[in-house]
Order: sequence, then structure tokens, then C-alpha cells
Amino acid sequence: MPASIQLIGLPTDINSSFEPGAASAPAAIRAALWSDRGNLSTECGLEIGADIDLADAGDLPLTDDDVAADDQMMHEAISQLGSGTPIFLGGDHAVTYPLVAALAARHGPVNILHFDAHPDLYADFEGNPRSHASPFARIMEGGHAVRLVQVGIRTLTRHCREQAERYGVQILPMAGFDVAQVPVLDGPLYISVDLDGIDPSEAPGVAHPEPGGLRLREVLAAIHKQTAPIIGADIVELNPARDVNDVTAILAAKLVREIAARIYTNAEGGT
Ligand code: MN
Ligand code: MN
Repeated sequence: MPASIQLIGLPTDINSSFEPGAASAPAAIRAALWSDRGNLSTECGLEIGADIDLADAGDLPLTDDDVAADDQMMHEAISQLGSGTPIFLGGDHAVTYPLVAALAARHGPVNILHFDAHPDLYADFEGNPRSHASPFARIMEGGHAVRLVQVGIRTLTRHCREQAERYGVQILPMAGFDVAQVPVLDGPLYISVDLDGIDPSEAPGVAHPEPGGLRLREVLAAIHKQTAPIIGADIVELNPARDVNDVTAILAAKLVREIAARIYTNAEGGT
């Protein structure tokens, strides 16, 4: 039997730069996931519960005030996982740095498939090197990733283009994007989904909406073409206060189901 999947909420806004709100995302995604409005099917034909063991481990009791203490809590949560594979519910995107650092300490440097409107490669943003605009700079300079592929990018500044070149980041810009461009990555694989990578027409509930984005259908195709063992994933940057009829929370809950199906299938050997 493959390891169970653990859902872990990270209610934090500590490194948001513009507009808080992501701290209330885990509760909103959980409410959508477990709501009787939908069911627990996945598009692979596997069902959460019947076929896939998805345990909700609740939220980490983050301080949302003390970055070092919260990083330590995330490291400890990963060290105590046992054989379970975590799906983290952000929170702002800054959480991806401590999560990937802790997972790389356990599994070795990871391959990352990252969906986002923004490359999040700032050396620091507005003086904060731990900003949610900087996690992938910290990951790359720490040597925690062997390969970083960014999908959906449509806000590339000169500085971030230079950072991408410096760290060897593979950016698939939104202009001219085709899902066939997304490579099938080696393992260990980590998937990070910033919901603003998806077009605001499908995912309006984010702090930094950017037009001209990915369709959810393209994100699912990019995820479901992956065959490598997945050691963790995150879904970040939902801002429930900006959501419309919970559609972004419901979209995030669908991503939880589909990523869980991919974790399960790839642990079985991949299909
Ligand atoms: Mn973003
Ligand atoms: Mn981001």
C-alpha cells in the first residue's frame, strides 16, 4: 500500500507584501473539499477515501508573527511525517522555502514544478528576503532544488530574469504557452501551485490577480503528465476575502483531489 497523504494547513500571512488574507485559506479550502456540494472523485477514476487515503492533519499552530519559530514548526512537522506525503494548504507563498528545505534535507535536492503568474525570485522584496516574492531565490541559493520549472509566468521583471539566469531556472512564459512544453520531471518531485498562476476569470480569489493566465485544465494536464514519485505539494495564495462565490476555494479543493490522485498513482509506479 502506498503511504497515506496528509493535508496540513499553514494559516499564515507573515510574508505577504500587499494584502493579507491568505491565512484564512486553509479553512476555506477544507470547507470546499469536504462540502456535500461536490464529491471526492478524481479524474483518474480513483476516489479520495475509497481508493486514496487522505488524512486531514489540521493546521499547524503558526505564530504568524515570528518567522524563525514558524519555519521551525514546519521543519518539525515534516520530520514527524513518517511515511505520509504532505499536501500543504497556504498561506502565502513564502512557506514553500522552509517546506522544500525540510523535504530536501530528507529526500535530497528536489525537482520542482511551480505554477505562478510570478517567478518569486526576488533577492529580497521591499527589504524582506523572506517575502512571498522571494521563496524560489532562497530555495535555489540553498541548493535545495536540482531543477525548477516555472509555468504560467507573465510578470517577469528585469531583476527576476537575471535571477532566473543566475540560478538556471527554466521559465515557460505564458505568452505562447502550450502544455506540451511542460517537461516530465525526475523525482523526487515537489509541486507548488500559486493560485494566481491560473487566470483570474477562473481563480479570482487571490491578492495579486494577473490577467492572461493558465486555465485549470492546463494545470491539471501538466500535473497528470508527471510520472515521478511526488514527495510533497503546496497550494498557496488563496485570499478568501477576494473570492467570488467560493469558486477559487472550490478550484483549490479540486487541485487537492487531483494532486492526491497523482501522488497515489506515482507512488504505485506511475501510469
Ligand atoms: Mn503569484
Ligand atoms: Mn507565488
